[in-house]
Amino acid sequence: MRRWLFADQLGPHFLDGEHQPVLLIESKAVFRRRAFHRQKAHLVLSAIRHRAAELGDRAVHLKTETYRDGLRRYGEVVEVCHPTTRRARDFVRAQEKVTVLPARGFVTSHEDFATWADGRRGAARLDDFYRHARQAHGILVEGGEPVGGRWQVRVADGPRPTGLAPPPAPVEDAIDDEVRADLDRWAAEGIEFIGRDAPRQFPVTRAEALDRQRHFLIHRLPHFGRADDAMLAADPWLAHSGLSTSFNLGLLDPLPAVREAEAAFRAGLAPLSSVERFARQVIGWRDYLWHLYWYLDVGYPAGSRAPGRTSIPEWFATLDAESVHARCLSSALAAVRDLGWTHHATRLTVLGNYAVQRGWRPTDMVDWFERAFVDGREWAMIGNVVGMARHAELSAVTTEPYAVSGTHINRASDFCAGCRYDPKQRLGPDACPFTGGYLTYLHRTRERLHGNVRMTRALKQLARITDLPAIVAQERARGSQAP
Ligand code: SF4
Repeated sequence: MRRWLFADQLGPHFLDGEHQPVLLIESKAVFRRRAFHRQKAHLVLSAIRHRAAELGDRAVHLKTETYRDGLRRYGEVVEVCHPTTRRARDFVRAQEKVTVLPARGFVTSHEDFATWADGRRGAARLDDFYRHARQAHGILVEGGEPVGGRWQVRVADGPRPTGLAPPPAPVEDAIDDEVRADLDRWAAEGIEFIGRDAPRQFPVTRAEALDRQRHFLIHRLPHFGRADDAMLAADPWLAHSGLSTSFNLGLLDPLPAVREAEAAFRAGLAPLSSVERFARQVIGWRDYLWHLYWYLDVGYPAGSRAPGRTSIPEWFATLDAESVHARCLSSALAAVRDLGWTHHATRLTVLGNYAVQRGWRPTDMVDWFERAFVDGREWAMIGNVVGMARHAELSAVTTEPYAVSGTHINRASDFCAGCRYDPKQRLGPDACPFTGGYLTYLHRTRERLHGNVRMTRALKQLARITDLPAIVAQERARGSQAP
């Protein structure tokens, strides 16, 4: 039967064989509803059109206003792998001529996760799930035990690697030219985008994605463990793979990618600390967020129960990096504006952290991350933003809020050296908005955090700060203005 492929199901592992016929539908309404990053729109359309070109006569490729229009125009029965949003899942289930198959593109099945989580009785934590996935799939495991003796390998102290080879940019072609012309026309018609257009930076075909993966395994994986949490203003990539867009377009299958990384370790080409961290991100964190999205049914409106009452300010929503003096925040917004991507440390420690401190509405943040990042997906962002950065109702995700002060950012990055603020100052014109913001956040949420053993020390320190009322007043006055 013909397989309908959504834009995040473009790799060969979403088909049953190399001769299976395919339906591809481009829905313009998706871009009419919300303002996506221009480079994200380009990536998605380019990936669909490249897949259609690869498949040739095997593909029916329709450009329509909505998916409903596309299905009506095609008119025959199709099957589709489980979509990645509730909205799409509900839509395909309601179609008489669509058969919905189990999800693909993740390591653990829905059924396996549900069986595992049901057995944990409400304590379905990431660390346990990661161990379960490693054992179930035999990743870095010998005799049922982790290679090296620990499930999570500590990285030895040492200098952060710098000057690593960034991923080579893909070469654009005539399909990209056509996409760019279409998006220019849509913008002229009134469809809004955020961010800047630029030559494409991420893969849109499986061949490009495999090239990108090979480059990472050789040049950056060996250093990944040591650079995982670091942030450098001049280097957006550090040792990160940047493969999330390829996983999330379905161009790469995550389990074989992790097996390739393990093979690099077994061949002595990458240390265990780097390979284990990569495995943790892909078969642990990525799959875990995917399954929580469906298992806990955490979405809108559950996410909106989280405390956070303030809308995202315009300067943040529109990536107006120039209006921000705080160097870490300005750099992060500029990276998103120019690339549609930052690595996870910047997302969490700068962007998510600032939103937590200022009490921005979690649903706004989920929507923003999904629209502004080329790899942003609702299922990933709800777990990340609502659960971790927002420390909301998802006790399954994390046991402590992810809010940190400017001194933490200073230790992890080179941002503070060139900033007009001082990470150690909490009061006065040089006061770091992250340091004052952190203390104000603790003060605002102290009753909710009371009793959380991981926050006991921070709350005790807070109680000893004599100028706290002035700090809180200062940060309230700063409000939603760009810092
Ligand atoms: Fe960011 Fe504060 Fe450091 Fe400036 S001093 S870069 S605002 S953490």
